[in-house]
Amino acid sequence: MGFKKLGLSQPVLSALTEMGFSKPTPIQEKGIPLLLQGEDLIGQAQTGTGKTAAFGICILEKLALGKSERGKVRSLVLAPTRELAIQITGEIQKIGKHLHLRTLAVYGGQDIERQLGPLSSGVDIVVGTPGRILDHIERRTLDLSRVEVAVLDEADRMLDMGFIEDIEKILQKTPQNRQTLLFSATMPPTITELSKKYMHAPQEVRVSEDSLSVKSIRQYFIEVSKFDRLNAFLILLAQKKPELALVFVRTKHGADRLNEILEDRGFRSMALHGDMSQNKRDRSMDAFRRKHINILVATDLASRGLDVTGVSHVINYDTTDDPMTYVHRIGRTGRMGKDGEAISFIFFDQASIISIIEKVTDSKLEEIKLNFKIEDLPRRVNFARRESDDSRGRRDRPRNGPPHGARREGRGDSRGPRCEGGRDRSPHISTAKKEFSSRSGHQFFGRRN
Ligand code: ADP
Ligand code: MG
Repeated sequence: MGFKKLGLSQPVLSALTEMGFSKPTPIQEKGIPLLLQGEDLIGQAQTGTGKTAAFGICILEKLALGKSERGKVRSLVLAPTRELAIQITGEIQKIGKHLHLRTLAVYGGQDIERQLGPLSSGVDIVVGTPGRILDHIERRTLDLSRVEVAVLDEADRMLDMGFIEDIEKILQKTPQNRQTLLFSATMPPTITELSKKYMHAPQEVRVSEDSLSVKSIRQYFIEVSKFDRLNAFLILLAQKKPELALVFVRTKHGADRLNEILEDRGFRSMALHGDMSQNKRDRSMDAFRRKHINILVATDLASRGLDVTGVSHVINYDTTDDPMTYVHRIGRTGRMGKDGEAISFIFFDQASIISIIEKVTDSKLEEIKLNFKIEDLPRRVNFARRESDDSRGRRDRPRNGPPHGARREGRGDSRGPRCEGGRDRSPHISTAKKEFSSRSGHQFFGRRN
């Protein structure tokens, strides 16, 4: 079935054709008719299955009708991260290319003054992060009293403890009789219940409750000791040579550190986390989207919603023990029917995570046993010591000299002398051999005592 049967207008149909969308995805096919009838909707469908276009089309069709109201904010989309707000804005702008409606991304980290001009000159759709939307409400620079459609993308995240107060405050500024739409790949019953407080007799469309992850993502795990994980990771990269890999770590500091190690080894890598300036975050996202780098080392900032074409691998360097977060993280690959691999490092005492993940994703995780030759190793490998340092609680010691001093700004270089001259980028296989031979007697990936 094509989009035409959904009763869309010609300008939207033309834009969808230009975007290469030939037929609606299941969430679009089931959701759009309800949305166009004005129903409130809770929409659950797997990652990368076109939820953005489902609500984007609805907003645009609805707003295109009210010509006299042009330039007033009649739709508000809330998203958990700035990067996602920017991405959603782009998608709505593409779908609305032939309509004269303006969509603006309103997010923190961007000069607030810069948002005032477009807001005062007339915007129809605002896509924003809650904090900045509240700032504008307080400054009285954003009037939400005409909102007809409000959307919470990544709704379960938006209604969890971290955001819910802000969301309530924002929704209170919108009319009671608005249409409210909630979308996510994961919609736990508690959130569904809670969300009804903000909705009128919502319809529920659940496309894939039993299997939260798409089958096009092949899932693997590698069991390692804490001591061996970094080497195993580097070997994995050397063997897989991922075209585009998103690597998840737990902390901002961890993201910087792993990224530095990768840069030192000559990988084209950048970090993405919430302690970086927006400028730097934009640069990392841009480099990743344009494939100027192969690896993005990110915190869970990148786990929700981001749609980057060609992500071949998601690697959980720090595997999360929250199955919902796992579903979103691995959902950055295998989007819209494409293949992808998700590989998770599991410590020996974390093995129980595997069966939980298998249950929620309704799939089997295959074990990867890394067999490698010394020649396969990426350049120098004498950093196992650093990771073992961690386990001895010496986290604060800087690990490496910066390969590119300029990129290290703001890292608090006063913390002590740099160690180990990480600048050496020449292949150092002989060092590698020595290291490994000195470890003889241990099974490399086995547990150490
Ligand atoms: P979700 O929000 O469900 O994770 P997105 O809305 O980010 O997924 O969509 C994933 C990708 O699929 C985007 O690049 C989007 O442009 C594209 N897409 C959406 N709908 C269609 C469609 N009907 N046909 C082809 N591509 C689509
Ligand atoms: Mg999405």
